[in-house]
Amino acid sequence: MNCQKNHQSLLHWYDGFGRHELPWRNSSDVYHVYISEIMLQQTQVSRVQEYFYPNFLEKYPCLEKLSQASIDEVLVNWSGLGYYSRARNLHKTAKLTAKSGLPTIQKELEKLPGIGRYTASAICSFGYKQPVSVVDTNIARVLKRFFALSEVKDKVVWEYANSFLNHNDPTHHNLALMDLGSLICTPKDPKCDECPLTNSCKGKSDPTKYTQTKKTQYENLELFYGVCIENSKIAVQKSTNKLYHGMYELPVVDPIEEDFLGSFKHSYTKYRITVSLYKVENFIEEVEWVELEKLSQIPLSSMMKKALKLL
Ligand code: SF4
Repeated sequence: MNCQKNHQSLLHWYDGFGRHELPWRNSSDVYHVYISEIMLQQTQVSRVQEYFYPNFLEKYPCLEKLSQASIDEVLVNWSGLGYYSRARNLHKTAKLTAKSGLPTIQKELEKLPGIGRYTASAICSFGYKQPVSVVDTNIARVLKRFFALSEVKDKVVWEYANSFLNHNDPTHHNLALMDLGSLICTPKDPKCDECPLTNSCKGKSDPTKYTQTKKTQYENLELFYGVCIENSKIAVQKSTNKLYHGMYELPVVDPIEEDFLGSFKHSYTKYRITVSLYKVENFIEEVEWVELEKLSQIPLSSMMKKALKLL
């Protein structure tokens, strides 16, 4: 296989068709790369690009500002992105690195909360422009097909990524592979005719053979909340549920048929949730009272916002 030729055609394709407009690709600030990578872990590029990324950076333009904010405030600004552990880990990492800055060594980055091998390598490659390989789901798919690797462990894919890395321009090489996976070598219907690697691709005769898509196993969950409003204030409490830890929610109650107010469905991660709301006169457990008009100032999940809308 002629690696040099493949590298050249990949970069040539990236010049013409890559997603150069993504704002974090036009920033030389490593913090910007870090924020974008954490947001992109579970959220679509378009939603991050148009709304969450610019708003979050406006609020927290650097690690120091993020470290000085309260976790409640960070969670409010993360609201709508889901997977709130990402916000909690961002906040912890900001506190740990506000003075020193994010480490420049991949292994050191991996020791920080919420930063795994992929995120650390992305920060090193896209932020610090280091000659390291990056493997996300898109790149893994391209490499598995290109080298015809079926049922291999992640470790092996990383080894192939290392051997295929273009040391003349590693950052653009990684970005190009990422975009190729996102735009051309897509999971279901790869456009091999338009692919810059097509001449050397070993898996193009049966690309789907090298992509095992895991089927998500959904779990049903029922949640019951109590609604108590007094003097324009509503009772809330901090969630102890690991899904929404640290977020505010209506107090959890046992279902009581006669005081049923309504229910709705909500999907969150692998859960299909049925939420039921009940009218409650008073609470035995400790609750906090929040003025209705100040609800937007406390961290609420999308599910809680739906519940309040229903009310
Ligand atoms: S030739 Fe087809 S299968 Fe191979 S990398 Fe390109 S798009 Fe993917």
